[in-house]
Amino acid sequence: MAADGLQMTSSRLLLARSWAIWQTAKPVLVGYVLAVDLLAVLGVTATLVLRPIGPVDPVPLILLVACAILYTELSLPIAKLQDGCQGSLNSVWIVAAVLLLHPALAAVVVLVACFTTWLRARPKGLYRKAFATSATILSGLAAASFLHLVNVRPVVEMPKNTATFAALIGAAVIFLAVNTILSATFRLLSGSNRKIRQALTQDYALEAAAAALGILLSWALVDWPITVLLIMGIMLVLHRSALIRQLRDQARADPKTGLLNSATWFKDAAAQLDRSKRSTALLMLDLDHFKTINDRHGHLVGDKHLRGVADVLRSEVRSTDLVGRFGGEEFVILLPQTAQQDAMAIAERIRRRVATVTVEGVDAVTVSVGVAAHPDHGETLEEVVSAADNALLAAKTAGRNRTLLFPC
Ligand code: GH3
Ligand code: MG
Ligand code: MG
Repeated sequence: MAADGLQMTSSRLLLARSWAIWQTAKPVLVGYVLAVDLLAVLGVTATLVLRPIGPVDPVPLILLVACAILYTELSLPIAKLQDGCQGSLNSVWIVAAVLLLHPALAAVVVLVACFTTWLRARPKGLYRKAFATSATILSGLAAASFLHLVNVRPVVEMPKNTATFAALIGAAVIFLAVNTILSATFRLLSGSNRKIRQALTQDYALEAAAAALGILLSWALVDWPITVLLIMGIMLVLHRSALIRQLRDQARADPKTGLLNSATWFKDAAAQLDRSKRSTALLMLDLDHFKTINDRHGHLVGDKHLRGVADVLRSEVRSTDLVGRFGGEEFVILLPQTAQQDAMAIAERIRRRVATVTVEGVDAVTVSVGVAAHPDHGETLEEVVSAADNALLAAKTAGRNRTLLFPC
């Protein structure tokens, strides 16, 4: 019996050791996730001790939980095509719960909203979902504490005046700010450049719209609950428009590097040349002896190297410049309103930085760059690309790891 018990415990431990959280292999991220989870539990416990739940009307809680579950079901076809946005939309139920319920009951709505989404849409990465849930609970507690501080009672009892309105907006802003800071920190600590970029460019407008709807929802639930159906309709439209934007962005990007794909780069670059009145420069880059990286270390390491180079290219130019993956290990950059000599200086800067990119201890590779300009080296985009390509070929022939300007 004792041996059986021991075996069960150790197999549970073994199971726990196989959890994804331990495999992220970043102690600082694991520590952060556990700290946020712990804080959420402590926060709810402290709230229960300081403000015990008195006799409550269960209807708003039941309605909010039902809304969260129903919305997850209704939006499932959209959520399945999508890469994480449902979390932002859940702010609707959570902001409403913070405004209507005792903070500990609001935490119950957060748990239901987050876990039904997780269960139905993407049954993986439980620790991430647990983190998001804890972060949302903490954000809700921060907003509820603010309302308590400014002495605004739950929606049922509050006077409908400008001061109350300002307090509600303040609570929604605090909710969003705390949630954004906690989840952006998670992404920053998880360390990949792509995730950091996502953290900085995520759709705050969608979150803000969802929180604003949450304020209206809290009012609707008290005064005229059937109008919740209208709010659900608006949310479905918001959700779908976020999906369309995401799909449009994906269709423009090269999936491996996140740079513009070749077709999009050509379309955008041609439009840019049509508009430009001043000199526009074009860089064409090709990594030197890249094949040896694949041959020695495998294609996955090669892919990581390509992503590292793409990050360098993106970070070395202005946000208005067009950076594309031309193909394989070749890249193109259009620099509007840039003189030839400035383009040469930028190309040299990029060449030096690319030579410092190392992935998993593998040696860096160098890059050869060809530079050409519009209108000096060609009238059309094709002509300028061809001129830069000639310069690139000359750079390769001259020994690689150099920048040459057309004609050479
Ligand atoms: P050179 O200096 O003449 O440009 O030599 P190179 O080895 O870079 O050029 P080559 O054209 O002989 O080979 C290009 C290599 O780039 C071969 C191919 O395996 C690799 N490559 C192209 N696309 C990808 C990709 O998406 N991922 C990885 N890992 N490698 C790629
Ligand atoms: Mg090549
Ligand atoms: Mg090459």
